[in-house]
Amino acid sequence: MPATGSGQAGPTEADWAAAVAAVRGLPPDGRVLLICHVNPDGDALGSMLGFAFGLRRLGVRQLQATFPGPPEVPEPLLGLPGLDLLVPADEAYPDPDLVMCFDAASASRLGDLVDRLDRAGTAVVLDHHASNTRFGKINLIDPGAAATSVVAEGLLARLDVPLDAEIAECLYVALATDTGSFRFAMTTPAVHEMAARLLATGIRPGDISRQIFDTRPFGAIRLYGDVLSRVQLEPEAASGLGLVWTFATLDDLARHGQRPYVLEPLIDSVRCAAEADVSCVVKQVTEGQWAVSMRSKGGVDVSQVAVALGGGGHRSAAGFTGLGTAVDVIGAIRSELDRAIIKAEDQG
Ligand code: AMP
Ligand code: MN
Ligand code: MN
Repeated sequence: MPATGSGQAGPTEADWAAAVAAVRGLPPDGRVLLICHVNPDGDALGSMLGFAFGLRRLGVRQLQATFPGPPEVPEPLLGLPGLDLLVPADEAYPDPDLVMCFDAASASRLGDLVDRLDRAGTAVVLDHHASNTRFGKINLIDPGAAATSVVAEGLLARLDVPLDAEIAECLYVALATDTGSFRFAMTTPAVHEMAARLLATGIRPGDISRQIFDTRPFGAIRLYGDVLSRVQLEPEAASGLGLVWTFATLDDLARHGQRPYVLEPLIDSVRCAAEADVSCVVKQVTEGQWAVSMRSKGGVDVSQVAVALGGGGHRSAAGFTGLGTAVDVIGAIRSELDRAIIKAEDQG
């Protein structure tokens, strides 16, 4: 049973059949290029690498996995099986027979690799963002899926690939990441059933969770201290639903000798503030450019705010690239929040 549950339409049987045919119809020694989104997270890498193992089981020999930008895997994900399949973006097959994209809501999330969509024989998109622009020839988009790995598992099942421990570890990391360790609203019975199928292969959830979520350098803890000490609460923002935010600069990272990925879980500390529906962390990428993470407890659709500012995401978790100073970026968010549809009254 697919691990979906929102009632939103997922792929049709014709979509699934087309994707199965694209894989089964590969020429002998066909080249397959798997791509996930820039700055890959657990779902992007996990769904891509889990599916890669499935393709290997099917006998696909010419197989590469990649993502745009610096070929740097965040430290917590360095234990994932299958990382040997990764190649830097500039070494990826220029004209693969088949390209498959994972967890990317739009072609812009593929960076310079976007040209492969046209150059490949066929392009299949696997994703779960409601905002997905359906940029593949074949689109397996399920907004009701808690993670892209749910879609990947569905396609592997239709390809008659049995789950094994390597596939399962990758798909589990993806599922655990996107459900916030089985805490978020998307955590349906079907999600737990999928987790049960994955755990039945013998993978070790305690070890995986410690590595993925509960391990960070000592310097990162000090860095969090600095960044959290400047957190701001604005109870009047978002039409009174409240906004809590902070920012981290490249100087903060340098002072503590830390890489940018260590800031990814920071939003989880900020979004705890009881007084605010919306939370935000603004992370400096370069001079004048910021990676923005937003979360909502349900009063505001933050994906609307993100899309308005050039990004995307889900109702309760979204992001975009902000320009200017951190204060400029927060100003832009504040303005968009005032425009966003406030659905608190509708909820009753
Ligand atoms: P994050 O805060 O980085 O965990 O991202 C939360 C959600 O927002 C994810 O579903 C991402 O796919 C989406 N997202 C984050 N940054 C961007 C961006 N620059 N463009 C489009 N979507 C984004
Ligand atoms: Mn992702
Ligand atoms: Mn995802």
